[in-house]
Amino acid sequence: MRNLILFGPPGAGKGTQSAFLVEHYNLVHLSTGDIFRANIKGQTELGTLAQSYMNQGQLVPDDVTIRMLESEVDKHPEAAGFIFDGFPRTTAQAAALDAFLEGKGQTIAAMLALEVPEDELKTRLLARAETSGRPDDADPAVIQKRIDVYNAETAPVADHYRAAGKYQGIDGVGSIADITARLTNAIGA
Ligand code: ADP
Repeated sequence: MRNLILFGPPGAGKGTQSAFLVEHYNLVHLSTGDIFRANIKGQTELGTLAQSYMNQGQLVPDDVTIRMLESEVDKHPEAAGFIFDGFPRTTAQAAALDAFLEGKGQTIAAMLALEVPEDELKTRLLARAETSGRPDDADPAVIQKRIDVYNAETAPVADHYRAAGKYQGIDGVGSIADITARLTNAIGA
């Protein structure tokens, strides 16, 4: 099994690059943001809860997020591997993911971290708001909050995987194809 974490701040291009990686490496894509948005659309209880945090640029609480992610993994017993996009976003989520995978005799192969300067992130998110319909992209104050939360709570997750020798930084500025090539180089055959 090949389990990858695609890591990076909001607007780094995780969703865009996941689409290619999933196809190329035959992985199951689990984006916690996408799953929350599907729940909002479906007006589930989880969606209502998640929406109140997401619209303010805050993280959905760990217990809810971890439980949801684990149940999504368990829906794919035949998977050749997973690409985790937007998870783990806190050190508690990282510890839970490691323990959960270990219980299945699995592990994270690598964390691929897209590195993009903050100014570029803000430009991309505001541009994405034009088409995404995402309220959290349309408001500069919410964008700033998401970046601040990333720096405070999510960036430390990289240290966790760096210590395990699994961190690979990838320059996330350039054309989509360039960045895809950098990722495939890093992942290898
Ligand atoms: P982006 O990377 O552009 O911020 P996502 O779709 O990954 O977009 O996430 C959107 C929002 O969903 C986050 O701001 C947060 O509120 C919530 N969310 C997504 N993943 C997680 C997670 N692992 N833990 C807590 N909240 C999350």
